[in-house]
Amino acid sequence: KTVKRVHNFYSGPAALPLSILQQAQAELLDFNGTGMSIMEISHRSKDYEAVHNRAIELLKELLGIPAGYDVLFLQGGASLQFAMVPMNFLAPGKKAGYVMTGTWAEKAYAQAEKLGEVFIAASAKEGNYRRIPSPGELNYGPDTAYLHITSNNTIFGTQWQSFPETGAVPLIADMSSDILSKPFDVSKFALIYAGAQKNLGPAGVTVVIIRHDLLDRANKKVPTMLRYETYAKDNSLYNTPPTFNIYMVSLMLAWVKEQGGLAALHRRNQEKAALVYDAIDASNGFYVGHAQPDVRSLMNITFRLANEDLEKKFLDAAKQAGFVGLAGHRSVGGCRASAYNAVPYESCLALRELMFTFQKENW
Ligand code: PLP
Repeated sequence: KTVKRVHNFYSGPAALPLSILQQAQAELLDFNGTGMSIMEISHRSKDYEAVHNRAIELLKELLGIPAGYDVLFLQGGASLQFAMVPMNFLAPGKKAGYVMTGTWAEKAYAQAEKLGEVFIAASAKEGNYRRIPSPGELNYGPDTAYLHITSNNTIFGTQWQSFPETGAVPLIADMSSDILSKPFDVSKFALIYAGAQKNLGPAGVTVVIIRHDLLDRANKKVPTMLRYETYAKDNSLYNTPPTFNIYMVSLMLAWVKEQGGLAALHRRNQEKAALVYDAIDASNGFYVGHAQPDVRSLMNITFRLANEDLEKKFLDAAKQAGFVGLAGHRSVGGCRASAYNAVPYESCLALRELMFTFQKENW
């Protein structure tokens, strides 16, 4: 029986591979011969714990996470991390530096500002977040509590191409919208967080990768559920974790491995994004990309047409042709194609064709 699937370019929650949805469907009523759904099984059982630990091990393997780091599963989305990071690591007398590269960085900064002293280490706000500050622009001292960056800016469509060396200053990154899209060196970071709903699985679980030594420095006065140590001490089983979500993450990670891991996915993501960026660049200004070309995101491709009427017409044509999620974020307008890991090459190819055809008919 064939399943109706659309070209899904939503920015999040976003497309998942059909094969893992089918596996979840097949296992929904009887997980692994238990006679129960995975969501009916105690989080203290061996059956669940195997799923939980498999997800952690796969993430460690795929990202090449070195010894000395813990992988944690939290709730509250990436947005709760905006507050948890300063609650735990912004000590009185210290200042935390934030690199402003978009709306999510601004939101992270706003939460830290409520809890302690913060400063802007660099900003790309001028020109509406089209670029990423260069390493030389980052302005922070050696006593900085931590430096916070957003590796991929979901709304503006820019992405860090390489990460700064911060020495003894802990580097903290929100990787919600590009984790698992390409290989990178985890050892540069003290803490990484990512809401699951783009490259990791369905919404409802947040993955945190944290270096042990940071835990010792953390504020001990924070309520239990808001301390990273609580999760690290009990393998994220202090209370009931979102078990079904973590199961879905484990399927997603197994799928990433099956695809050949991060290097293979990176190549495919480059090919996919190039299909759409080439259509923009070859359009003689009919489509105008938002991001500066040297920092274009492989995950979120942002562009505009000559005016809002034409953009609406384009989005209507896209909808007619079976595309979903191409409207830009309300704060930027225009169009955005989110081509996360699970978006098939064929969908990007189809979008390219649509862009060519639409241009021909409306030039
Ligand atoms: N950070 C980035 C980079 C995001 O793209 C998003 C959501 O799209 C968030 C944070 C907020 O995540 P959540 O909705 O899980 O709180």
